[in-house]
Amino acid sequence: MITALEQYDPQIYELIRQEAARQSGSIRLIPSENYVSKAVMLASGSCLTNKYAEGYPGKRYYQGQQVTDLIEKTAQQRAKKLFKAEHANVQPYSGSVANLAAYFALIKPGDTIMGLSLPHGGHLTHGWKVSVTSQIFNSVQYTVNPATGRFDYNRIEELAKKHKPKIIISGATAYPREIDFEIFGRIARDVGAYHVSDIAHIAGLVVAGIHKSPVPYSDIVSTTTHKTLRGPRGGMLLCKAEHAKKVDKAVFPGLQGGPHMQTLTAIAVAMAEADTPEFVAYAKQVVKNAKALAEKLLEYGFNLVSGGTDNHLILIDLQNKNISGRKMAEAMDRARLVANRNTIPDDPNPPSNPSGLRLGTPAITTRGMKEAQAEQIAAFINKVAENIDNESAIEKVGKEVLLLCSQFTVPEHFIIPNKNSI
Ligand SMILES: *Cc1c(COP(=O)(O)O)cnc(C)c1O
Repeated sequence: MITALEQYDPQIYELIRQEAARQSGSIRLIPSENYVSKAVMLASGSCLTNKYAEGYPGKRYYQGQQVTDLIEKTAQQRAKKLFKAEHANVQPYSGSVANLAAYFALIKPGDTIMGLSLPHGGHLTHGWKVSVTSQIFNSVQYTVNPATGRFDYNRIEELAKKHKPKIIISGATAYPREIDFEIFGRIARDVGAYHVSDIAHIAGLVVAGIHKSPVPYSDIVSTTTHKTLRGPRGGMLLCKAEHAKKVDKAVFPGLQGGPHMQTLTAIAVAMAEADTPEFVAYAKQVVKNAKALAEKLLEYGFNLVSGGTDNHLILIDLQNKNISGRKMAEAMDRARLVANRNTIPDDPNPPSNPSGLRLGTPAITTRGMKEAQAEQIAAFINKVAENIDNESAIEKVGKEVLLLCSQFTVPEHFIIPNKNSI
């Protein structure tokens, strides 16, 4: 389908072709990225992009909703079944908007929220200072215990008792360990707070039953649909029936206008894909690959925050290697290993040039890579670190990475032929 674009807009077509080549000719280690299926891709590129559907099924503001109502109901039902939730809202444009909607559904501007601080692995929208969430709400931030890299639930409870937040947010964007949502739920209940859990990163592991679901312990669960869940770029809210009306109102008309129906359609497709034994096997392999990668990195003398991983991601503390996160991520990119620099708990350096590097295995696992390839990737990363100022050695790693890429092809709809090369 995409090749037809060449006739209409050769300039953009060529850029898409280059991006497809980049995605296939490099190892994608950014834990929030993945490769969607052909079905998801087709649904998100469909005629549903043409339709305005402000409102909800049966309660729309424009006519012509004969089909969109059926699609949205299907997406809602599939999401509810997959997450065993009483209510699902599949309209949020992204995880960030989903979080805002969760807060506005439950509390008022000026109320206190308590979330994980960004340098300790939290998301911007959990009340970090540059996020609008810290301007609208009074934000209190908890941290991980820097000595262990893990949550100290007693300390979090003390902080909650001291500040009496209206919402406690659990969930993270760079936390390599399993999160005990049940304890967060209890702490919130004890201080009279709502519990909003954000499983943007680990949703795929939750639906596969690898990590315990936060649904029974949360007032609202927020997630993205495009990370481990492997759907289109979007957001979703799950909640108890008692909060359903408030959640729906907060999304529309509170924060958004018309939902992106093409995304919603693709979310429906992705939810069905995630509800299969194949997806469970995929999610299990994601974690096995992350553990294999972590083990090997430890053997090479890398320090890992918390000493390892329980999920799909790894956070390297590069301080003992005397390489900044930025320098490492940029050198790896030249070797076709695409990761992102990241802060580590109590990072002495700023987020623009932090001391850490974040790695994840969702995308390589979609390509079919297993533990042996994860170990090979650890060796590549080590070679880059050992030769950080040696450009020809880095280039050599890039050639080996390309060879690995050619053995584990991306889904075929990601390959766009270059007519000059055929
Ligand atoms: C990625 C992420 C989000 C935001 O998702 P966007 O779709 O980028 O807005 C929110 N919360 C957490 C924990 C995330 O990791």
